[in-house]
Amino acid sequence: MKPTSPPQTIAIVGAGFSGTLVAAHLLSRAKTPLTVHLIERERSRFARGVAYSTTEDCHLLNVPAGNMSAFPEDREHFLRWAQAREAEMLDCACVGEVTAAAYLPRRAYGDYIAQILDEAERGAAPGVGLDRRIDEVASLKVEDGAVALRLVSGAQLRADRVVLALGNFRPGDPSGADGAFHRSARYHGDPWAPEVLARLLPTESCLLVGSGLTMVDWAITLNQAGYRGAIHVVSRRGLWPQSHKPGAPAAFGLEPSGKFGSVRNGLHSIRAFIRDTGTDWRSVIDALRPVTQTLWKGLGLSEQRRFLRHLRTFWDCHRHRLAPGIAARLGAMLDSGQMIRHVGRIHAFRDLGRRVEVTLRPRGSDRRYVLNVDAVVNCSGSESDYRRLDSPLVKDLLVQRLIRPDPLALGLDVADNGALIDAEGRPSAVLFTLGPPQKGRLWETTAVPEIRGQAAGLAVELLGG
Ligand SMILES: Cc1cc2nc3c(=O)[nH]c(=O)nc-3n(C[C@H](O)[C@H](O)[C@H](O)COP(=O)(O)OP(=O)(O)OC[C@H]3O[C@@H](n4cnc5c(N)ncnc54)[C@H](O)[C@@H]3O)c2cc1C
Repeated sequence: MKPTSPPQTIAIVGAGFSGTLVAAHLLSRAKTPLTVHLIERERSRFARGVAYSTTEDCHLLNVPAGNMSAFPEDREHFLRWAQAREAEMLDCACVGEVTAAAYLPRRAYGDYIAQILDEAERGAAPGVGLDRRIDEVASLKVEDGAVALRLVSGAQLRADRVVLALGNFRPGDPSGADGAFHRSARYHGDPWAPEVLARLLPTESCLLVGSGLTMVDWAITLNQAGYRGAIHVVSRRGLWPQSHKPGAPAAFGLEPSGKFGSVRNGLHSIRAFIRDTGTDWRSVIDALRPVTQTLWKGLGLSEQRRFLRHLRTFWDCHRHRLAPGIAARLGAMLDSGQMIRHVGRIHAFRDLGRRVEVTLRPRGSDRRYVLNVDAVVNCSGSESDYRRLDSPLVKDLLVQRLIRPDPLALGLDVADNGALIDAEGRPSAVLFTLGPPQKGRLWETTAVPEIRGQAAGLAVELLGG
């Protein structure tokens, strides 16, 4: 049942883009006394999260500045912020212009989010305040319509409502390795851990497992740091993120139902449109963006499963594209021979003390070959199956049956208003989420253009409409 009185305390677990933006909206909107606890376990990620806490100048946004505003109703908000700091942006070797079409440093975007939070805090009504906490929420208990949170430091908090803005978890460990290899000093299971770069730089070769955007981050980071060693990349299909190219979304009309009906139909319509009109495929993918969530829901479970089985990797590398400058640098690293692509599966890893022996099986072959490298970095993409996460909080919530994975195990089961659904199928009146955990329900929910709308809507919901 929905609580009737406005909340006096709201706890937000996770201070990435999602959690920070909900906090900022709450602080700006609340008219009656309210304390917002914003809790982040990693100090460097406060108001930045995984994506925007990088300190590397050449880790660029993969969405143009003109579409990175934190506020859906003010599309140029980020662009104006960046243009007011043009000299600082241009100081970065990877930035050539500060226009709507520019790809700016993620580090700068972190500063932008942090500033939004500061301003919301300063402008809050009397009695409305922010409690910034560096701590990890270890468990929570729902009792008498409120929530008791236990933090790793031993502190306890009570909140009327809680937002789990848990975002992106480190990738699951790749197959072919056992627990002993996972503990090896030559294996870096968390690609976002701060110490990885210092440990890679003295090596003469490394293997990046996975060929998505995290691999790209690592290739660019190593290149920028002057790494001279060989960078091997392995992925099952050998597909890489494509480059952006300027162009407006195409006038790609959907059927009147606004549905594709089946994955096969959808693919057929897209291909036919590209073939018949000669439109660049990027413009067609971009035209789908505003309706992707509707299309996804219209597919139903079995077609969604079919999509994941056959098209997911193709979708990811066409939809999540690279800034053209980054794509050009990767191309040069491949042409120079420093970067070497392998297509296939990893059969085994062995830490031989001075090096790692990796046995690979090329795609479509029974052959095996061995690669010797000094280090292995797991770039296989954020783990989304909550049953496999090693987060104490997530484990606790699963044991208490307060959350359940969505049927595709892409995230959590979530109601339309952002309420978490428990193991019995009941939407919670006090536990909410937004962003990446909603992937099963919405598919397109992990990037700023989607999360900003969710954050504004959730703040209204939390304050009671
Ligand atoms: C490397 C990378 C680059 C990206 N680049 C872009 C881009 O250019 N443009 C774009 O639109 N999108 C991009 N994205 C997508 C990105 O998912 C979103 O933009 C957004 O940052 C997600 O924010 P979030 O707050 O939901 O998640 P996160 O950033 O993952 O934040 C969640 C936070 O919760 C904290 N946390 C988790 N559990 C607990 C706990 N128990 N207690 C306390 N704290 C906890 C974590 O430490 C983390 O900081 C990128 C994603 C990644 C991973």
